[in-house]
Amino acid sequence: MTTDPALHPVRNLSLLRDRNDAAVLRAVRAGAENGISRVELAAHTGLTAQAISKITARLLAEGLLTEAGRERVAGQTGKPRTLLRLVPRARFALGAQLGRRGIRLLQVDLTGTVTARAEAAVDPQGEPGPVLDRLAAMVDDLTAGPTAQRVLGLGLACPGPLDTRDGVLHQVTGMPGWHGLHLRDEMEARTHLPVIVEKNTTAGVLSRLGPDNRAFVYLGDGVGAGLVLGGRVHRGARTNAGEFGHQCVDPTGPLCACGARGCLEAVCLTALRARRTDEAARALGIAVANLVRLLDVEDISLGGTTLLDDPDPFETAIRTELATRIPDPHWQHVTLTRAPRLAIPQGAAALALTRLFL
Ligand SMILES: [Zn+2]
Repeated sequence: MTTDPALHPVRNLSLLRDRNDAAVLRAVRAGAENGISRVELAAHTGLTAQAISKITARLLAEGLLTEAGRERVAGQTGKPRTLLRLVPRARFALGAQLGRRGIRLLQVDLTGTVTARAEAAVDPQGEPGPVLDRLAAMVDDLTAGPTAQRVLGLGLACPGPLDTRDGVLHQVTGMPGWHGLHLRDEMEARTHLPVIVEKNTTAGVLSRLGPDNRAFVYLGDGVGAGLVLGGRVHRGARTNAGEFGHQCVDPTGPLCACGARGCLEAVCLTALRARRTDEAARALGIAVANLVRLLDVEDISLGGTTLLDDPDPFETAIRTELATRIPDPHWQHVTLTRAPRLAIPQGAAALALTRLFL
């Protein structure tokens, strides 16, 4: 249970001059709720007591840490240890989900708790400019006031295909005017904040810590999957892994928005439009079982508006297909959960938070 988006920087946006400062902040964040002592910090980070003393003094002065009482260690005499805790509202991060139906924007504190949110209906079928202007206005509104100077950045989750490294979109289905758009640069120019562009499904899988091999399976206006494999986000050679919805499941099936025939996404969406939910659910269930057999993930969270609006048939079909297609389902057990509705913008915000924890 060690996965942390902080271990997988998209690009170097680190806010701290000293990597050891970030290591200390990570250890404090991972420590007990009532705080962690300097002695424990030294043990967790491998830094000397002297280094810990200097770093914590700096982080206390910057307002990122606070002293949170004292702890007497059983069997030890002498001075009780001072506990240190994160100051949740010392900094904030923004996470946005830009979808085919609208924009969701969240502000979170250092613990990932949502502190403000906004939504807007937009039409991404046309030119991107007005949509980006609207998102920038929402960012301005949400960060107005005394917290403005304490916002670390904006994580922006979008449908793929896209290149996370340069923040450029590539032929997103249903958004033809966005092909080739330098989304990161456009939003950085509008918001004056560091922006990380990430695929919506990858943001989804980063919305929580979890087992080292896990997936976020998404059914909304499209179908996709975000992957954490071996404790690391799996983005692939061009950062475009997880186009789970565009695996061919029927070579003679319906034409997909991507131009190919018989993609899982086309099969699911065609069945759903015809109100054949069971057919869509079975197709998704088979694909999830294939994913488990291919990658041996042990934990799958299900997200996306379409699925979460009517989850039962999908969960039932996925459980059925896992039970019948995995040779030893007790040994290769898969935990299936429903993701929160805000998982994608929360995961995007978690990426922006990494500026402090990298
Ligand atoms: Zn397709």
